[in-house]
Amino acid sequence: MEENQANIVVFPFMAQGHIIPFLALALHLESKLRRLPNLTITFLNTPLNIAKLRSSLPPSAALRLVELPFCPSDHGLPPDAENTDALPYPLVARLLHASTSLRGPFRDLLLGLVAGGRKPLCVIADIFFGWTATVCRELGVFHAVFSGASGFGLACYYSLWVNLPHRKKPDSVEFSLPDFQEGSPVHVSQLPLTILEADGTDPWSLFQAPNLSAWADSNGILFNTMAEFDGVGLSYFRRKLGVEVWAVGPVLLSSKCRRSTTPSSPEQCIAWLDEKPPKSVLYVSFGSMNTITAPHMMELATALESSGRDFIWVVRPPVGQDINAKFDSGAWLPEGFKRRTAGRGLLVERWAPQAEILAHGAVGAFLTHCGWNSVLEALSNGVPLLGWPMAAEQFFNARLLEGDGVGACLEVARGRSGEVRADALREKIETVMGETERGRGMRRRAREAREVIQTAMRDDDAATRGSSVRALDEFIGAAMSRRAESR
Ligand code: UDP
Repeated sequence: MEENQANIVVFPFMAQGHIIPFLALALHLESKLRRLPNLTITFLNTPLNIAKLRSSLPPSAALRLVELPFCPSDHGLPPDAENTDALPYPLVARLLHASTSLRGPFRDLLLGLVAGGRKPLCVIADIFFGWTATVCRELGVFHAVFSGASGFGLACYYSLWVNLPHRKKPDSVEFSLPDFQEGSPVHVSQLPLTILEADGTDPWSLFQAPNLSAWADSNGILFNTMAEFDGVGLSYFRRKLGVEVWAVGPVLLSSKCRRSTTPSSPEQCIAWLDEKPPKSVLYVSFGSMNTITAPHMMELATALESSGRDFIWVVRPPVGQDINAKFDSGAWLPEGFKRRTAGRGLLVERWAPQAEILAHGAVGAFLTHCGWNSVLEALSNGVPLLGWPMAAEQFFNARLLEGDGVGACLEVARGRSGEVRADALREKIETVMGETERGRGMRRRAREAREVIQTAMRDDDAATRGSSVRALDEFIGAAMSRRAESR
């Protein structure tokens, strides 16, 4: 291997909620290691995702965008389906299975680098790409899984998948996570549908069984989280897998680089927010893939209207409709809703400039599905949360955020099938945004969370370096010493 060459390969799953934190990590590493001579960060993905990034990312000396061949229609997917953001939720499992076809091209690429004397310093790959760890072990390359999910959320999610089925009696509503007592008990309404319906032979089970067992081939797990909040989940993985765990977050994508992931322009939202008083606006969004049902949409609209509060709501067609269809306010919202809320409600179709919105001083609270990127973006700005978890580990993120450790979230609804009533929603919006004891407490805890985050990311002199900065240094140190050993 060339003495003075450092190549870090990063490889996210094809979803905005994965590409965004991986890009943030890649750029963070680039800036941290800029003094290393001949530093390269190789960002792998499928052709359409790479083309999108290439056309919009600011030029960078070290970042190399590399596409691996992938043909969605070979896997029964629509021709352009290289990202979950344009995919109906039931097809996500198919995209996951299809993504395993990247194994051959990934191995060829790595083999070429190793054979050419340019072995990467490390590979950092997605929680859904366990097979990359197996390939790296075979080729002697240092490997880490990078989780854009919280430690606690991923621990619950992992424990559920590796202990199927969960409910011994079909009528039981609460049960313990078998190997994660700190996470229990779990209520059946906190089970993602994919896990609730899993019997070991369904597409999700068939994907997760080999995926999760391959994590044991990795050298460790990087988490986009802070040790101060998330110790329980981080310890779970140290204990369960016996691997290194590094909490290096939050690494967040700057607004400038977000233009590559944001089709809409931020100006309209920001100009609208500029007219609003501080902390007066409720921002409502369910992330990059989730939508709510048509009846829930009606209840939410009624709650927003009757709350009297200003709001920005990122709207998508409800569950069961073509997610790429134009949003039809006439059909999916109460009659006259847009007219009656004109001036105090801004509906943004499909995709909003979320990072800019959450950083704006007019935003007072965030009604969120508790996707971990959204959570980090809110807490970094001291914004309290109303939680409406929908899928995956979001139910457990909500629990972590509501608990004493963070205390900056109030769960307002759960999943797509539970009952949601406008009056209860309105009351909870008022609890969080109004002059209530709970609301004041949550706002204080959200500000404290922002301070914890700022301290964790402090990177000045050695004596005051934050926990996340030290963890990333340790990770780089571990990869470097592995390289030194293998010379
Ligand atoms: N996002 C955005 N605009 C939107 C919806 C989502 O910029 O209208 C970004 C959001 O800022 C976050 C990511 O997409 O960085 C969503 O990730 P998260 O983990 O919150 O949820 P997921 O989409 O993975 O469920």
